[in-house]
Amino acid sequence: MPSQREDCLFCDIVHEGTYVAKTKGFVAINDINPKAQTHILIIPERHVESFREIGEFHAWELKRMMEFIAETARDAGLTDYQVQTNVGRSAGQTIHHLHWHVLGDVASHLDVSRPLTAVSEL
Ligand code: AMP
Ligand code: ZN
Repeated sequence: MPSQREDCLFCDIVHEGTYVAKTKGFVAINDINPKAQTHILIIPERHVESFREIGEFHAWELKRMMEFIAETARDAGLTDYQVQTNVGRSAGQTIHHLHWHVLGDVASHLDVSRPLTAVSEL
């Protein structure tokens, strides 16, 4: 299976986009249409359609991907945040190249009285 798809926006972005952060095999970009004060997307360089195909990654890649999500959130100043991936069209996936949404409000951990917002309401 080729690692890059010609008709895939995220394949283009991971190879020639502007990153918030980058590590071997993965990039982080700002979401073009943010649904939280901080909305970062973590994207593997290799084209894997969705979380459904997570078995296509090696164990060390999965560990690195999860660590990179946490590192990127921390470096963005977040302590409290949501990590989300939509799987399939009817679940809200619009770009069929696996990506993780990191959603957070930099100041949210200072205001514990603020009600939590479900991702589906964002
Ligand atoms: P999903 O709906 O889970 O597939 O998420 C796709 C996300 O990609 C959405 O939050 C979009 O706002 C975001 N998006 C679409 N095009 C771009 C782009 N060119 N650069 C950054 N983010 C994008
Ligand atoms: Zn792709």
